[in-house]
Order: sequence, then C-alpha cells, then structure tokens
Amino acid sequence: MSKNQVCKNCGTENVSQSAWCEKCLTPFNTYQEEKTLQCPNCMHPNDYNLDHCEFCHEPLKPGQSE
Ligand SMILES: [Zn+2]
Ligand SMILES: [Zn+2]
Repeated sequence: MSKNQVCKNCGTENVSQSAWCEKCLTPFNTYQEEKTLQCPNCMHPNDYNLDHCEFCHEPLKPGQSE
C-alpha cells in the first residue's frame, strides 16, 4: 500500500505520510483542511462560509452585529 502524495505546489512525490511536502513544506489536504466552524452553542461543525449555525442558528463569527 503506497499512498504517494504529490505536492500540488512543486510536484514532488512524497513517499512518506507526512502532513506537508518534504521539499517545499506545502501542507497536504490530508488533515484538517476542511474548513469548519464549530458552533459554540451546539458544537455542530458548520461550513466555514456560514455565518450562523445551520442547526441552532447561533452566530458563528464573533464581532458580527445584526
Ligand atoms: Zn512541494
Ligand atoms: Zn449550533
């Protein structure tokens, strides 16, 4: 099982499972690349683009006045 990761920045094929390119240190998408905003109220992971929790409608981004 070889899961070589090809760096999208420099094209280097990384043989290890490192979280970033061994050559240019560009992070791979393997770990927490998914941008989520966790609702402070119900802990529901929301899409980063959302302003309010899709579950309980709690505001996700501080400093937003409505
Ligand atoms: Zn690279
Ligand atoms: Zn919520």
